[in-house]
Amino acid sequence: MLDVMPTVPTQALIGGEWLNAESGRRFDVRDPATGNVIASVSDCGEVETLAAIAAADAALAAWSAEPASGRARILRRWADQMIERADELAWTLTRENGKPLAEARGEVLYGASYLHWFSEEATRVYGDVIPAPGSDRRIIVTKSPVGVCAAITPWNFPNAMLIRKAAAALAAGCTLVAKPAAETPLSALLAARIGMEAGLPAGVFNVVPGTDAAEIGRVLTSSDIVRKLSFTGSTGVGRKLIAQCAPTVKRLSMELGGNAPFIVFDDADLDAALDGLMASKFRNAGQTCVCANRVYVQDGVIGEFAERLAKRVATLNVGPGDRSGTEIGPLISEAAFAKVERMVSDALARGGRVLTGGAKHPAGELFYQPTVIDGVTADMDVMRDEIFGPVAPVAGFATEAEAIQMANETEYGLAAYVYTRDLGRAWRVGDALAHGMVGINEGVLSSPAAPFGGVKQSGFGREGSRYGLDDYLDVKYMLMGGLSA
Ligand code: ADP
Repeated sequence: MLDVMPTVPTQALIGGEWLNAESGRRFDVRDPATGNVIASVSDCGEVETLAAIAAADAALAAWSAEPASGRARILRRWADQMIERADELAWTLTRENGKPLAEARGEVLYGASYLHWFSEEATRVYGDVIPAPGSDRRIIVTKSPVGVCAAITPWNFPNAMLIRKAAAALAAGCTLVAKPAAETPLSALLAARIGMEAGLPAGVFNVVPGTDAAEIGRVLTSSDIVRKLSFTGSTGVGRKLIAQCAPTVKRLSMELGGNAPFIVFDDADLDAALDGLMASKFRNAGQTCVCANRVYVQDGVIGEFAERLAKRVATLNVGPGDRSGTEIGPLISEAAFAKVERMVSDALARGGRVLTGGAKHPAGELFYQPTVIDGVTADMDVMRDEIFGPVAPVAGFATEAEAIQMANETEYGLAAYVYTRDLGRAWRVGDALAHGMVGINEGVLSSPAAPFGGVKQSGFGREGSRYGLDDYLDVKYMLMGGLSA
């Protein structure tokens, strides 16, 4: 059944125009809750990507010359209109991604909050005047936009992952070509239309949806005009894109995979730790890069904690995202579902024990039961890889040193969480964790005021905060001489 959403654009946005792919090809977008086709979208390739890069290049001079306050006004209007139309955006997001409507609405407001944040930061791109060695000279530092940027974004936060890149890039005076994930192009296209209605000049923000990600990625990364790539996605694809950007020496921001440890000490407030874990682990059915992936609980409380966790998880309401009361929607795809099944089987084969869940949920083909497994060990896939599903593996530990060692035993380094009421321990463990973000007695840590990003193979670059704007600015040094009389 084709259940088209008439208000959502389905063509590419290039230079302010909505265009079909020259090849005439289109691709289907499906609702993961039902498998139904909800839209058919232009399937872009090389021609459209080159056109979008040219449009972004043509728009760059005027956009970067616009006073920051002018850019800020447009970004603020974009944010305000996204908030006004949050229901429409959320509904579209839920239909293509599957997450509960309340979460989708939260994501839209979160995305808009980056436009507000960076509209304010845009007017604070300060430089420096530095005393030179020699009193007849001054060192002057200014910051200028990097230029034409590219953004490749994933399906798990189809609004926010794109908007937080666009907000920083456009605030800095850059122009952008965005490639959203083929699973979820509608959120990006609808947000783009709202941006155009809010006054974005033609070419400043371009969107090329398509199924041949490698081809669009090749064109974006090999272009000499594109001066920066910001990518959110898997570490494997991130590695490829970094290599592809080497010949043209682009600036890069890489927000890659995570394998977040969630550490609960004996002295923790267990109620708060449980609340934090439920929020961190089960948001978006566990499909976030900062999701608690490995739960470590100190030996003194692990029995009580695992039991209480399993009880709460068993009550989670599973169903389609647009049904009232749903807390856990479907997984995004058959591949994602098969991966979760495989990881749980691996854990059970190696001695893990299911406390709740552990199988497909009857709500539909892509629904997995919220699951808790205890008795897990470091060799299991659930501990080594990103699960990206509603599965919480719980392991015990004895000492603080052991917890730190286990938490850092991964090539990833995105988010980590620690629950303790001992202030000294909070600092010690927070300092020792080799992760870009640490939530101490908090399970949700992202906000536009904070620098979001990873270390190690979780990537580099920061989104949000004043550091987020620096990612789209080049530093220029000028030496002013001849000042002596
Ligand atoms: P996920 O596992 O979350 O789907 P991916 O890294 O596969 O993560 O996808 C994130 C984004 O990267 C999506 O927009 C996807 O289309 C895109 N992508 C996937 N493979 C490539 C590639 N080879 N080159 C460029 N982009 C890619």
